[in-house]
Amino acid sequence: MNFKDKIRIIPDFPKPGIRFKDITTLLRDGQALRAAVQEIANRFRDEKIDLVVGPEARGFVIGTPVAYELGCGFVPLRKPGKLPAETAKMEYGLEYGKDALEIHLDAIQPGQRILLVDDLLATGGTTRAAVELVEKLGGQVVGLAFLIELTYLEGRKQLGDKEVFSLVQY
Ligand code: IMP
Repeated sequence: MNFKDKIRIIPDFPKPGIRFKDITTLLRDGQALRAAVQEIANRFRDEKIDLVVGPEARGFVIGTPVAYELGCGFVPLRKPGKLPAETAKMEYGLEYGKDALEIHLDAIQPGQRILLVDDLLATGGTTRAAVELVEKLGGQVVGLAFLIELTYLEGRKQLGDKEVFSLVQY
C-alpha cells in the first residue's frame, strides 16, 4: 500500500509556511486504514506489548485499533483538565506552539511494556513528553510508531535509541 498517496497536504495550515499533513483522507479509506493499523501492529506483534499509549487526539484514532489488533489495552494521554482521576502532567513545545499532556497515575503498572502510537512525528516534542509520562509511572517504552515521520525535523534525536517505526516519511 502506498500510504503517501492517501495523505493530503494542506499548505499554510494552521499557520503560513506550514504544509499540514492531513490524514483524514487516509482514515476515510477503509483499505488504507486497515493496512496502516495492521502494518504497525505486525511490526510490534512479537514485542510482548502490554499497553498502547496514544496522545489526544489523533493518537487515539491510530492507537486504539493497533491495541485491538495486538490484543492489549489502550491508555489515553489527554490535554490538561480532561482526565477525571489523579494525573501526572508534562509540558512540551510543538512544531507550532506549546501544550501539555496528562496521564492517569494508575494507568500503567511498573515494568509494563509500552508501545507509543501517534499520527505524526515532527520535532518529537509531543512524543518526548509522552515517553517521560510513561517512564514516570515506571512503564518501559519498547517502541514508538507513527503514520508519518517528518525526517527533516529530526524528531528521532529526541528519543534516544528507542525503536521508531513510521509508515511514511517526508
Ligand atoms: P511534534 O511534537 O513536533 O513531534 O509534533 C507532533 C504532533 O503535532 C503530533 O501529535 C501531530 O498530531 C501534530 N502535528 C504536527 N504537524 C502536523 C501535520 O503536518 N499534520 C498533522 N499533525 C501534525
